[in-house]
Amino acid sequence: MVTRAPAVPFLLLLLFACRGASSGPAEGIAAPADLVLRNGAVYTVDAARSWARAVAVRGGRIVYVGTDSLPAGLVGPATEVVDLQGRMLLPGFQDAHVHLIGSGVDLSECDLNAATTAAEAADTIQAYAAAHPDLTWIRGAGWQLPLFPEGNPSKELLDRIVPDRPAMLWAADGHSAWVNSRALALAKITRDTPDPPNGRIERDPLTGEPTGTLREAAINLVEAALPPRTGAELAAGLERAEKLANSFGITTIFSALTDEDELRAFTDADRAGTLTLRVIAALRAPGAGGDTLLARLRDWRTRYATPHVRPTAVKLFQDGVIEARTAAMLAPYLDRRYDAGTPVRDQATLDRMAGALDRAGFQIHIHAIGDRAVRMSLDALAYARTVNGERDARPSIAHLQLIDPADIPRFRVLGVVANFEPLWSNGDEYLTKLAEPALGPARSRWQYPIASVVRTGAVVSGGSDWSVSSLNPLDAIETGITHRDPGDTTAAVWNPPERVDLPTMLALYTINAAWAHHQERETGSIEVGKLADLVVLDRDLFQVPVSRIHEVRVVRTLLEGRTVFAGEPSHPERSEGGMIQGMPPSNRLR
Ligand SMILES: [Zn+2]
Repeated sequence: MVTRAPAVPFLLLLLFACRGASSGPAEGIAAPADLVLRNGAVYTVDAARSWARAVAVRGGRIVYVGTDSLPAGLVGPATEVVDLQGRMLLPGFQDAHVHLIGSGVDLSECDLNAATTAAEAADTIQAYAAAHPDLTWIRGAGWQLPLFPEGNPSKELLDRIVPDRPAMLWAADGHSAWVNSRALALAKITRDTPDPPNGRIERDPLTGEPTGTLREAAINLVEAALPPRTGAELAAGLERAEKLANSFGITTIFSALTDEDELRAFTDADRAGTLTLRVIAALRAPGAGGDTLLARLRDWRTRYATPHVRPTAVKLFQDGVIEARTAAMLAPYLDRRYDAGTPVRDQATLDRMAGALDRAGFQIHIHAIGDRAVRMSLDALAYARTVNGERDARPSIAHLQLIDPADIPRFRVLGVVANFEPLWSNGDEYLTKLAEPALGPARSRWQYPIASVVRTGAVVSGGSDWSVSSLNPLDAIETGITHRDPGDTTAAVWNPPERVDLPTMLALYTINAAWAHHQERETGSIEVGKLADLVVLDRDLFQVPVSRIHEVRVVRTLLEGRTVFAGEPSHPERSEGGMIQGMPPSNRLR
């Protein structure tokens, strides 16, 4: 599947007259650069997908891309010259759907991502509770649904581990939560509590007693009883998370669901000079909207805008997830005969919201997993375009687990970005045990149809949805090519027709995401005049076996020419299989 690089791919890119360049052509050659990276495998991701050997940076922008025969005057006494020794230089990665701050906060709480059995999850919680006797709540995240029968962990198990305090642990996918009896009591959830709209309290089928697992909006009942995060907790979470993102070569993120407190954390960090990423923030739009909501979003958009933070998008949920049977489907789940899931909003409400948000100039970002939610989202975006007229809106639909084949061409037609998590195409138990039995083989074929959407010419971008899954773009890039877990060479290829090649996967995380973020003129490729958002990898991705792409390490990440991460190249023989959940080896958490 992998397209090998041409043997002599070096294309000279000596054109200095480039949009966005702050320096004139003559000055571009004469003045010394701040930084020269030479002797590298530079994959530029420009329109021609050209290769180069050397790149020079001045004042945060790229001033030279070409061969190692540098123009006279480019290297001065103060220029830092780096011999890349054949290592790979790429545009900085852009993560087009991530929950950065919340996941950063989660890293300091009870982290269940590494648990591979229910017993391991229980041990982790017990150890965390014992180590934190002062906490009034035990909070955490990251348990995997397949560890428990029907994805349903019980309050009894949690009561045994945490009998003295309320406990709430989010599932890794963020659509379920596991709570103990004390948490249920504080939230006043009893067998008489009705399921809230768009939520489900899992119950004992005989007694109706809540069993300890909550889905979707039912989680809000317990969330409302939790003490809110402090500004200091959010700031610490951001700092932890942005370091981790930089260590994976990420220089731009799309913050997929941002409330005002998180937005304040981003802008405070930027004003203090500690933000090491560009952030496009999708604001949380609860309920059915209305004029009050729009006024508030407009206010945030201006009040919290800083040079690196653009609060210009709005996130809408249109359904849940297939494994919890909360996704909105065109046909019923095979194991729940009359149940096709319920969309969050009816079509008229979604249309009205999309129309109003689009008219107000917001970039719309919709969570849609089931094929009905996807169709409703496309319909609403089509409606917005009809009532408001065509503009350069670049709305996106995120996750896209199941797309009816009839809807695949509509992304291109409507100018909608298809935002996938390619790491989810790995054939894991979420798919084989929890999703596919409810879909059957014919419909399962249309899960995560990345190649089909790419073929239509639509813009496809890549996201991690961290901490739902690994923050490392290289994990997703590998799996998008192999349809196996990173490193796996023996499992059956999950959905062969929907695999794509390495250049396509790299575009998803660079130039395509940059376009989705309205910043393709400034970022997303290595071209003269663009901002020097760059990542150095310890090996050339086109030269390593595909199943080892996830082992390639970032050795340096630059944001506008400033080094925001510096690490060690890996030892090729050392395999770090624990990367799946985005947890780095400890030496990379500095
Ligand atoms: Zn998400």
